[in-house]
Amino acid sequence: MSSALGWPASDDFARSRLGWPSPGQESAADPTGLNDQPDPDDEAGPDEASPSKGSGEAMTVSRETSDDAERIVSRETSGLAEPARPPAGAWPRPPARRVLTVANQKGGVGKTTTAVNLAAALAQHDVRVLVIDLDPQGNASTAFSVAHHLGAPSVYEALIGARSLNDVIVAVENLPNLWCAPATIDLAGAEVELVSVVARESRLRRALESVELDVDYIFIDCPPSLGLLTLNAMVAASEILIPIQCEFYALEGLSQLLNNVALVKSELNQALYVSTILLTMYDARTRLADQVAEDVRTHFGSLVLEAVIPRSVRISEAPGFGQTVVTFDPASRGARAYQAAAYDLASRA
Ligand code: ATP
Ligand code: MG
Repeated sequence: MSSALGWPASDDFARSRLGWPSPGQESAADPTGLNDQPDPDDEAGPDEASPSKGSGEAMTVSRETSDDAERIVSRETSGLAEPARPPAGAWPRPPARRVLTVANQKGGVGKTTTAVNLAAALAQHDVRVLVIDLDPQGNASTAFSVAHHLGAPSVYEALIGARSLNDVIVAVENLPNLWCAPATIDLAGAEVELVSVVARESRLRRALESVELDVDYIFIDCPPSLGLLTLNAMVAASEILIPIQCEFYALEGLSQLLNNVALVKSELNQALYVSTILLTMYDARTRLADQVAEDVRTHFGSLVLEAVIPRSVRISEAPGFGQTVVTFDPASRGARAYQAAAYDLASRA
């Protein structure tokens, strides 16, 4: 049995209204319990733009009371505050290359949309970015209009050692500073084929070590599973970026993801930590969206980027044109939210 919003129902998570331990029960500097890096935003105050602002009363949800029904049903909210407009011109570049794995084993939460839009927004501001499409669905490749038909050079060949990753990477059209290593459906076989290969969990890490391209960021777009491909991404990266959909069940499975990160950190990649959480698909018409956003901020604190990505038709239309929303309709609300999130990410470097 899970909580109203899909939070794990174990005792460990039964302490807050929606299941997370309440603040003070965990270190605010390390809400995931995984990170030993100091949190750069420890002193940040409450998020002005956050939909969570202004509430926070302790409640024990009993879903059968009329009171609770009132809280759960949708209603028009005042919506999201306009995200702060990031500066024009060049954005800060990190002192050393940042490798971020965009992961959440739940499907359709906005992993690909987040990876491609953050990457494109950074590239538009003179930051050099490579996106590794590690999902056999090839959605990131589609969003960049990069060829990924069966037989096209792809990440699959780099993983099995048939080609260097350098020979797979292509420049994204109309976006200087942005490159993509596409995925083809071949990658679906890699989960099985790699099982018998030596150092199967560090194939991507090896492949990345050989990359000659000088980039500031590498985003790895993961498939919706915690299989060998995602494991390779976690071993290759130092940061995990988790998009969380502001929806029912969005949080179920999150503890499993965090457990996996902890395992990888202790066994395979000490540098790994959850650096960033992004709230996606926020629907201003539902109270659920507010509740999820509020709870995620309470639990993860300053790991959560200030910008919240709204549910937006323009965001979902963009890949159909082989584009990201920040190039397709830069003035749209969704594009502005991704631009603000990308600037926030760059500022935290
Ligand atoms: P998968 O687990 O299959 O890889 P994903 O987590 O990568 O999925 P996306 O592919 O980014 O999720 O998004 C799922 C669908 O939702 C896509 O059709 C995408 O265009 C759409 N979408 C993503 N973000 C938004 C948004 N903010 N508003 C509206 N639609 C969105
Ligand atoms: Mg995806």
